[in-house]
Amino acid sequence: MAPEIKYTKLFINNEWVDACSGYTFAAYAPHDGSVIAQVAEGDRADIDLAVTAAKAAFHRDSKWRLLDASARGRLLNKFADLIQRDAQYLGELECCNNGMNIRMVLGIVQKGVNGARYAASLADKIQGDTIPADGDLFSYTLKQPVGVCGLILPWNAPILMFVNKVCTALAAGCTVVVKPAEQTPLTSLALAALLKEAGVPAGVVNVVTGFGPDAGAALTHHPDVAKISFTGSLEVGKQIQQAAGKANLKRVTLELGGKSPLVIMNDADLNLAVTWAAHGVFGNQGQMCFAASRTFVQSGIYDTFVKKAVEFARNIKIGNPSDPNVDHGPQVDGEIMNRVLAYIEKGKKEGARLLTGGNRIGTTGYYVEPTVFADVEDHMTIAKEEIFGPVQCIFKFETLKEVIDRANNTNYGLASGIFTKNINDALHFSKHVEAGNVWINTYLASTAQTPFGGFKDSGVGREKGVDCVEEYLEIKTVTISLPKTF
Ligand code: NAP
Ligand code: MG
Repeated sequence: MAPEIKYTKLFINNEWVDACSGYTFAAYAPHDGSVIAQVAEGDRADIDLAVTAAKAAFHRDSKWRLLDASARGRLLNKFADLIQRDAQYLGELECCNNGMNIRMVLGIVQKGVNGARYAASLADKIQGDTIPADGDLFSYTLKQPVGVCGLILPWNAPILMFVNKVCTALAAGCTVVVKPAEQTPLTSLALAALLKEAGVPAGVVNVVTGFGPDAGAALTHHPDVAKISFTGSLEVGKQIQQAAGKANLKRVTLELGGKSPLVIMNDADLNLAVTWAAHGVFGNQGQMCFAASRTFVQSGIYDTFVKKAVEFARNIKIGNPSDPNVDHGPQVDGEIMNRVLAYIEKGKKEGARLLTGGNRIGTTGYYVEPTVFADVEDHMTIAKEEIFGPVQCIFKFETLKEVIDRANNTNYGLASGIFTKNINDALHFSKHVEAGNVWINTYLASTAQTPFGGFKDSGVGREKGVDCVEEYLEIKTVTISLPKTF
């Protein structure tokens, strides 16, 4: 019951082509581990071709550069219409290849539509300043596209990552080469087909499927790439930042991982807090950069919260993610599943109290039980490292002052949350927590209009929001001499 897979070749210069090497690699369905497609395995040679196409499409005489900014916006709106038209198909493809449950994935596709429309709306609002320069001078600024951009995607929300990065870059007038994650190449190719159908000129968007150390690294080292936007792990993010400074000086946007604190105060709406804390860490099987992977609960409600959290985890419906009644599907692949299971073992060994879950489910596919640990302490491995799996870690705290320091005691700073009825506590926490996002009495709430990104090791730069397009622009200052005439 896998959806039809229409595109498995590289997308370069608006053509579907085999990899220069002729190699392919397998794409899998994590639900049962079956091979669903053989996909072209691009490497350095293919990246060269794609960058050459993108560079030609960026040339001042190209169709793309001569297009009005408002026409760029219309084109992106057309792309949004096509995503909407194919939403069910795209959702099913992502669900099959990634393992995200179909309800969640359809919500993500809708976020993609919204993101494309939002980027479309920004295309003709890119404008500079007139500047009161000293002396007999008149100065103004132009904001111009930075050039060819390398967009490197993770596997955990591929459609949204593709749409947000590509549409923002195109709104700015850049051209792009996309490198999807090895686990999830299929929806990027399907989206490239929609961009072609929307009328994007040849070379403006190119997609090279393949592996990080080959295709990905070739992109980050390429002298004709002006900018890299990367979403993925901290480890690879650091490599990319270094590579970006070698052949030339690339601009870099990094959206990396997290170890995000969610604080539940004694006065919180308990059922609401239990529900969001669970969604915040079990959604997409915990494979979310902003997962609420440290749940701090104040001592007055600690025991009740823990009891309810365990009940919630035990009632999560596990199964084939294509079933609309299922909440919890497989991890994306066997390697990730084993990494999660190893963290659970470490948690047990280091003395955290395992209350439910902790095991692989069956032997087919890559399923891990929703797992709850209580009495987690800050020094434990599961308290410090990003697990990226369905593992809720509950910590006890006494005071807001104490919990803010403990929340900030991490190299990460992506997201955070607090549940309380006390506005002073909520605002105090929001002010002092070191994180790019703070949610009050909710979690995971993020729309096309809200900037997203991290403090500290969680990243550099922001995506989404009204300023996102700035990440793809250079400022040019033009100064004119105005001789005194009277
Ligand atoms: P990853 O291993 O860092 O891979 C991300 C992408 O980088 C993949 O396309 C990968 O290709 C590529 N890559 C690997 N090595 C490379 C290299 N040397 N040079 C250039 N590219 C390279 O991350 P992941 O496992 O896909 O995703 C999980 C991580 O992403 C988590 O840490 C999560 O928190 C983070 N994340 C962050 C956000 C955010 O917005 N902050 C959103 C989602 C995910 P291959 O797949 O071929 O290896
Ligand atoms: Mg990887």
